[in-house]
Amino acid sequence: MTRLPTLFISHGSPMVAIDDSPARRFLLELGKTLPRPTAIVAISAHWESTGAPTVCFAPRPETIHDFGGFPAELFAIQYPAPGAPETAARAAELLEQAGFSVKRSPDRGLDHGAWVPLRLIYPDADIPVTQISVLSDATPAEHEQIGKALNRLRDEGILIIGSGSLTHNLYEFRGQAMDAPVPAWVSDFGTWMMAMLRDNQRASLLDYRRQAPSAARNHPTEEHLLPLFVAMGAAGDGAKAERIHASYEYGVLAMDVYEFS
Ligand code: ZN
Repeated sequence: MTRLPTLFISHGSPMVAIDDSPARRFLLELGKTLPRPTAIVAISAHWESTGAPTVCFAPRPETIHDFGGFPAELFAIQYPAPGAPETAARAAELLEQAGFSVKRSPDRGLDHGAWVPLRLIYPDADIPVTQISVLSDATPAEHEQIGKALNRLRDEGILIIGSGSLTHNLYEFRGQAMDAPVPAWVSDFGTWMMAMLRDNQRASLLDYRRQAPSAARNHPTEEHLLPLFVAMGAAGDGAKAERIHASYEYGVLAMDVYEFS
């Protein structure tokens, strides 16, 4: 069976689902370049829990429209991919073997952090999907450990996707245009992350909040970066990270996509 890479995807605004942009065009092509997975495990910034990772066992996960103030067209979108209870059971087993206590959700659907990019990458919605939550009370290092526990899934034909945003300060979004200029505090953070990921400087990455320029300004809360550490851990210690897409939206959202292989 083909060994799959892992991905970190910046999912941007929900409008990526319908409005043309460089990031959207990239995601529309991405599925054609990847080996076809047997199932997908998505770790999305939009599913947070505390204490223990929660795994979705829904056989037919509903499409959750977990946003407000967007056009009706967006709320009408369905992503009817089947659930992946067998993959969920395997993921839960691996997490428990690694010492995590695991919660199981029988009916959690797919949030927009999962379905917006997946609908562009795999528009046929024919690959089973499960989700695992991020932990709002755990560190980047603990999220890397969650990823490490899932590493063997790569050899079982399963694609692990962390979905967040390389930069994510919505307090600094004040109606800028899609192609607004990018302030240095945003681009400097992205440049630092790229250098550290390229050179696999994991200790520095896990300590990004102290070491990266303007870390707290780019991530007032950490949930949109935590999926990156899961993807990194899941790829294995010696994995090579490649930035396979970079663009910006509204000046403050870096839309970087990383592939770990
Ligand atoms: Zn988001």
